[in-house]
Parts: sequence; structure tokens; C-alpha cells
Amino acid sequence: MAEQAQRIVLASRPVGEPKASDFRIEEFSVPTPADGQVLLRTIWLSLDPYMRGRMSDGPSYATPVPIGGVMEAGTVSEVIASNNPNFAKGDIVLARAGWQTHALSDGKGLSRIDPKLAPVSTAIGVLGMPGMTAYTGLLDIGKPQPRETVVVAAASGAVGSAVGQIAKIKGARAIGIAGGRDKCAFVKQELGFDDCLDHREPNLGARLREACPQGIDVYFENVGGAVFEAVFPLLNAFARIPVCGLIAHYNDTEAKAPKWADGLMRAVLTKRLTIRGFIVSDFAGRRDDFLRDMSTWVREGKVKYKEFVTEGLESAPEAFMGLLKGANFGKQLVRVGPDEI
Ligand code: NDP
Repeated sequence: MAEQAQRIVLASRPVGEPKASDFRIEEFSVPTPADGQVLLRTIWLSLDPYMRGRMSDGPSYATPVPIGGVMEAGTVSEVIASNNPNFAKGDIVLARAGWQTHALSDGKGLSRIDPKLAPVSTAIGVLGMPGMTAYTGLLDIGKPQPRETVVVAAASGAVGSAVGQIAKIKGARAIGIAGGRDKCAFVKQELGFDDCLDHREPNLGARLREACPQGIDVYFENVGGAVFEAVFPLLNAFARIPVCGLIAHYNDTEAKAPKWADGLMRAVLTKRLTIRGFIVSDFAGRRDDFLRDMSTWVREGKVKYKEFVTEGLESAPEAFMGLLKGANFGKQLVRVGPDEI
């Protein structure tokens, strides 16, 4: 009998928070690569908040996963068979194999990872998409200057943790916002932010005002919701707001009319705010700069990272549901298979 592989498909489009029955695990035979193809075995699977958007069929910058389709994801995979002259058996590659143990690829979009340079999981973390999101959003849109105040929420997570540490490297003050005492202690003590506030405790606005006596010059928007409402009155003239994500709203079922659009627009004008949304792929041309700087900072210990690992492909749905609620403490990864077989 052919060796069995597993995949997780989207069984139904979630309404509000995703639930276990929105996913289905399926078995299939490990496929055989045709001419020009490689067979990939997944080692690490990246779970990221954008996947909630791929589960819905509303208007978006990306096409949704079809019902019955394999959930999309970036992976670190091993080439275990190759009929493609550009890749050899044993190569470790950055791929988009999705939520499955094995996948075929024609080699397009695969890039080789050198396991000697850094742990291979960092290719989907601090040295991959989330790290590049932090780097480009903060430096190209936020443009933090020495002694300015930078605020970021989801501060212990994949993107936020890098944002605050890069802000410090650029000489700015970094104030984090995170859910819970342990995350806040980590952000301050291990990552070296100047302060970190727990958004689950009351009076966030007043505590933020105290932590930012000179106001806020850069607000790296990761969450929206109550955090943005606390930040908004503290924005300085000429503040910059890279709008990276709005995770507090990803499970909203209907678009709400903005409560205070008038006040926001007035502030954009009178405070001359720059608010710019971005998708990391907008900055693809910065990839070499990012890899050069970030790998240096990681090697020198100036940027630290934390990974939060769940075991086995079957853990992905629950881990993803947890990610939307802050159950992860660091970059959410799923270990699908061993580094070596
Ligand atoms: P994280 O590792 O930060 O995990 C998500 C975190 O969001 C949770 O751990 C939780 O942290 C926080 N969170 C969830 N709900 C709320 C809420 N209601 N209020 C405040 N915080 C909340 O994920 P990433 O670093 O991968 O992503 C961070 C953001 O960046 C997301 O919005 C994501 O969509 C966005 N992103 C955007 C990209 C782009 O190209 N524009 C690319 C990559 C990511 P806590 O417990 O601390 O509250």
C-alpha cells in the first residue's frame, strides 16, 4: 500500500470565530512527482492571522481557500524526491505547501534555506514573512526617529516583538501592549521594550498616557478595536500609523459603520497624521535589505524571538483558533515532521 499523507481542508466558512467543524482532516496517498516536479515533506507549518481572511469569501486582496481546499500556509519543507534539476533530495526549502504533510511543487516560488545559518524555523518567523512585515512597516512607513515613542500591540507576537526591538535599535522608545502579565513581563525583561501594558486590565487609556508622557509618534497598528481607541487621543502631530493588521476584528461578521469617523478625519487633518495600510508583499524589493539587517541583529542578540510550537498536523485547527484569541505566546508554529528522517 502507498505511504499515507494527511491534509487539513476547509470544511465550511466560519461564521464569527472559527470552530473545529470548519476543518476536516483527510488522508491521501503520498503523491509521485512528475517530470519537473519535487515532492516535499513538511517540517514546520506557519500559522498566521491572515488565514482567517482566506476562510471568508468577502472582498479581499487575496482569493479565498475554496470549500474542500487545503488550507494555505507557508512551510519549511524537505525535498524528498526530485525530478527538477534545480532541487536535490535533501534540500530544505521555504514553500507554500499548506496544511499538509506532503505536497508536490514545480519548483516555482521555492527558495532553498541554509540550515547552517540559523534554525530553519526562522525562515517562517523572524527571518521570514512576519519579520519582514515588522521591518518594512516600521522603517518604510513608521520611520521612527531617535527619542520618538513607538507603540505596538500583540507585542510578544511574531510581528510586534520585532517591531519594538527594531524601534529600540533606531533609538526610539518602544511601548508594547500585550495580553496578560507573563507576556508583558517577557516583552519588557527579555525583549527590552521600555514598558508593556496589559490590554486585558482596566483603564488602558490612562495607563498608556502615563507610559507615553511625550505622546505617540508611531503607532504600528496590529489589532484595532479598544487598543486603537486608547492610542488615538495620544497621537502627536505628524504621527505615522502603519496599518498592518486588525486582528480584533477578523471574526466580525458584518462591516460596522465607523462610530467616530468624523473625529478620526478631523485628527488626520489637524494633526497631519499619516495612516497607511500595507501588505508585506508591497515591499518585496526590500527583501535583501531585510535579510541582511535582520540576520545581523539576530546574530548579535539585538533582536530576540520566541516560538510557540504545537505538535503534529492535527493540532493546527485548534492552534489557529487559539492564535486569534492570544493563546499563542510567540510565533505560532506547528511541527509537522522531524528535521531529519
Ligand atoms: P501574533 O503572533 O501577534 O498573534 C496574534 C496576537 O494578537 C495574539 O497572540 C494576541 O496577543 C493578539 N490579539 C488577538 N486579539 C486581540 C485583541 N482583540 N486585542 C488585542 N490583541 C489581540 O500574530 P502576528 O505577529 O503573526 O500578526 C500580528 C498582526 O500583524 C495581525 O493583525 C496580522 O494580521 C498582521 N500581519 C499583517 C501582515 C501584512 O502584510 N499586512 C503580515 C503579517 C501579519 P495578546 O495576547 O498579546 O493580546
